[in-house]
Formats: sequence, structure tokens, C-alpha cells
Amino acid sequence: LSDKLDKALHVLKGHGSITEVNVAETLKEVRRALLDADVNFKTAKEFTNTVKEKALGQNVLTTLQPGQLMVKLVKDELTELMGGETAGINLSGAPTVILMSGLQGSGKTTFSGKLANYLKTKKTKKPLLVACDIYRPAAINQLHVVGDQIGVEVYSEPENKNPVQIAQNAIAHAKQNGFNVVIVDTAGRLAIDEAMMTEIANVHKAINPQETLFVVDAMTGQDAVNTAKAFNDRLNFDGVVLTKLDGDTRGGAAISIKSVVDKPIKFIGTGEKMDAIDVFHPARMADRILGMGDVVSLVERAQEQFDEEEARKLQKKIAKNQFGFDDFLNQIQQVKKMGSMKDLVGMIPGAGKALKDVDIDDDAFKGIEAIIHSMTPKERTEPAIINGSRKKRIAKGSGTSVQQVNQLLKQFDQMSKMMKMMQGGGGRKMMQAMGR
Ligand code: GDP
Ligand code: MG
Repeated sequence: LSDKLDKALHVLKGHGSITEVNVAETLKEVRRALLDADVNFKTAKEFTNTVKEKALGQNVLTTLQPGQLMVKLVKDELTELMGGETAGINLSGAPTVILMSGLQGSGKTTFSGKLANYLKTKKTKKPLLVACDIYRPAAINQLHVVGDQIGVEVYSEPENKNPVQIAQNAIAHAKQNGFNVVIVDTAGRLAIDEAMMTEIANVHKAINPQETLFVVDAMTGQDAVNTAKAFNDRLNFDGVVLTKLDGDTRGGAAISIKSVVDKPIKFIGTGEKMDAIDVFHPARMADRILGMGDVVSLVERAQEQFDEEEARKLQKKIAKNQFGFDDFLNQIQQVKKMGSMKDLVGMIPGAGKALKDVDIDDDAFKGIEAIIHSMTPKERTEPAIINGSRKKRIAKGSGTSVQQVNQLLKQFDQMSKMMKMMQGGGGRKMMQAMGR
């Protein structure tokens, strides 16, 4: 998606003035890009129409930097389309009951574990996991494995074939034993069928959950929309969980689902591990779709890993424009502690695109580290002095190419600019950077 958008918006960049034809042409490209990302046709068309109206209303054509304004409009509108604000989760009720729904393989069991872990650590809750997938003994077992991993009790009745009863018994068990959140994992089928729908509708009716979440695999594209609609018609669910957003992002599903069922996306899953869960931020997703990289998340996660002292030092450096390659190297080392490389690399501006087709493993940063190690201390603190001959020397020393060195310098430059803006909290500056 971002390639196409880059191209589309390129038309507008560098032009002091543009014509209405240009705007129309750009929006056509934007629409095509959205369709490519599995946004359905109606949504994409409405989207570009809205942007067009706003563009004309704001006199994009007469502003000094129309490209920037268009990028801002596209981004704002994408954000709006995905719900605008971050939607919270309803934790009322004693206990809070949360029901998972979705097709088999969408990630319900994994997400049940992630959510339990998230609530336990972030919100100091005492969750109970409930195994209502009664068709496969392996499913009950899977939830027990997950529960053991995160230290959360799992309620199951392997002999009982009635999910409604199991769920009700689990809630009674929770009340008696001081659990304040009950997360009910259910069975899914490979495709929507009446038996599954009736079963989950019965469970839903019997336990009256505070939150019914629809879990969907982001990679399934258009199908995700049809499934969402079928489940919503039956359950009138409260929110969507978009899983498997690690790797190559298919942001299209987020846009289509929200616009078709008009329910907020509440969480995203970004990996198989128990901590690969994030609250869904529409604006960040819009950035991600637009190829900006989810820098805000990256910085936040990085900071969770840093000790405070280090974070303060780093902030000072960024503010003073002293963020250098040593700091970058340090960051990479911190980042490496954080688990899935693929997940993290995708968040670095530019890198996601550059490494899209590369099978990323833990060696992904080796080249980058080698390049930085081949720099002199002065080059690390003052990258601006790295001229042609220095580049050649660095490439040779690190066993890479001048092209790779250039790429890293460019990424580094982008990243430090973004970090500086984040510090200033300047949304306006951010938009300017996007226009560039
Ligand atoms: P369920 O049938 O809906 O319960 O789905 P599972 O939770 O068993 O997940 C199906 C598969 O998808 C498993 O192999 C999970 O490890 C994997 N999975 C779930 N969520 C994610 C995610 O966010 N990212 C990735 N990469 N894999 C996931
Ligand atoms: Mg399951």
C-alpha cells in the first residue's frame, strides 16, 4: 500500500501549485492503493470522495504546500475511518465476563491468553480463563499450556460437552474464588456455519458478557469483512481484535471491518508470544498504512525496556539533536531484547518496506551493527561528516556495500527526525515531515 501511496502523493510533492486534475489523479491512485490493501470498493470510493471534498473545501490548490496538506487529509481521514479515538475495554461487572468469538485459527485461544496476561500485569486484575472449545481435546490442552505460561488459572470440564454449562459453572467458580475477570474461549469452525453460530449465540445469551470480542486474522483480507458481518449480525459484538498484524501489514482489514460493522477495533495481535498484544490506535495504524512506521509504539516499547536513567539521557540527546549512531546501536541492542524481530523492524520507518520480502530472523540487524562498528567515534556522533570516501571505507570494513551504508544513513536520519518531533510533541511538524 505504501509504495502506491508514495507514488500517488509524489505527484503532488514538489509542486508549488497543483491543478484539480492532479488532485483527482492522486485520489484515484489512493483509491487503487486502498483496494490493493483489501479495503472494499464502496469504502475506498467513499473515502476518496470525502478526502476530495475536504481538499476542495480547504483550498488545497492554493496552499503553499498542497502535497503536505493532502497527506494530512488522507491520514486524518484514514484515522477517522478506523474509529478516530482508541476504544477502551469495559471492565465493569463482578466479575467482568469477556467472550471470544471468531473462526478457527483466527487466534482466539492465543488472544485469550494475551488478554489475561495484559489485564493481570497492566490492570492488576485476577483473570480466569475458560475452555469452551469442547470439540478437540487438544484445544482444552492448548489453553492450559497458555495458562501455565502466564500463571493464570484455566477452568475446564473435559467430560462436559455443553459449553453453556461450562461457561456458567466457570462464572460461579470465579465468584467463589475471587476472580474478577472471566475470559471465555470458544470453538470456531473453518467457515461460518449455523451450528457454530447457534452455539456461540447460546453461550452469549446465557452469560451476558460485558465484552464480546470478535477475533479476526488480519491476513484474510476481504473474507474478514464477511466473517465480521456474519458474527455481528448474530452477536452484536462490542469490539474487534485484529490478529497477525506482525510482518507485512494488511491494514485494509482494519479499515473495511470498522466501516462495515461500525464496531471499534480494540486490540491487535502482533505475534505468537503472550506479550504480542497492543491496544489499537487508529492514528498509529493510519501512519503504519501510510508507510510511516509505527514509531510511537516503537519508542514506547523501547522505553519500557530502558531503565529510566537511560531514557532520560536519551531524551536529552534527542532534544539537543545529539542522537548519534552509538545511541542507535544501543537502541538496536535494546530492541533485540524485545523479541520478534519481524514485528519490530516493521515499525522502523522505511525499514518495513525495505525488508518486506526478506525473511527476518535475529540476524536482521547484523549488517547494521557491522556498519556502525566500522564507523569512527566521530562519525557516530556526527554522521553528517560521512562523505563518499568514508562511506567506501565503512562499507569495506563492514563487509557491506556503499548502498547499504547509504540506506542506513537515510533511515537513521529519518528516525532521528521523527524522534525529535515526538519529543516536541509537534503534530504539525510531524505532518510536515510526512509531506517531505
Ligand atoms: P483459535 O483457533 O482461534 O483459537 O486460534 P489460535 O489461538 O489457536 O491461533 C492459531 C494460530 O495462529 C496459532 O499457531 C497461533 O500461534 C497463531 N497466532 C495467533 N495470534 C497470532 C498473532 O498475532 N501473530 C502471529 N504471527 N500468529 C498468531
Ligand atoms: Mg482455539
